[in-house]
Amino acid sequence: MGTYFEFIAVPDVTEADAPRKGAELTQWLVREGIICEAINTECAMGDEGQPPGPRYVEAIEEGESRGNLYGVTDQCGLAIITSRHLYHNWVGDFEYSCTLCNARFDDSADEDACRLYKDSILDWHDSGTPGSFACAQCGVERSIVEWQRDGPWVVANLGMKIWDWPLLSKTFIARIERQLGHPIRDIQGKF
Ligand SMILES: [Zn+2]
Repeated sequence: MGTYFEFIAVPDVTEADAPRKGAELTQWLVREGIICEAINTECAMGDEGQPPGPRYVEAIEEGESRGNLYGVTDQCGLAIITSRHLYHNWVGDFEYSCTLCNARFDDSADEDACRLYKDSILDWHDSGTPGSFACAQCGVERSIVEWQRDGPWVVANLGMKIWDWPLLSKTFIARIERQLGHPIRDIQGKF
């Protein structure tokens, strides 16, 4: 039991472009029959979600049976998020690394650096500030969305939350990337 989720984050989309890119992605998914057009707030954990469409099976991995999509479809929504958000699978230690000097920080060895970074993410999320953060090793300051995103989390202005579906296929993820013109990060988990 429990609720499976798959989060798709698009870290390279700017805050200014996120609403337009999100609307285009939604229209494309509806056109492809992957989601229904009608918004349903009951199906996506309180977000404005859209239930699976008539051809959703084209988006998922063949033979993949994770989630409840074949059963309780009215709770299996897909929500497009077009604002600042932290995507996380809530598993494992928090860690991050600097793309400039390759310094790596994790919760067990670098508690202070990690706390500062988490506080910066919260500030970025909760306020309208640009949310820049300086590396504890090289000192270079950059926007919160420009840090390496190789942990089980990513901050992004555009993303997708999919509840209780089987996993998306690699082919379909590649199609989403082509559609958006940006790479995406795929985060999976279960509550
Ligand atoms: Zn650095």
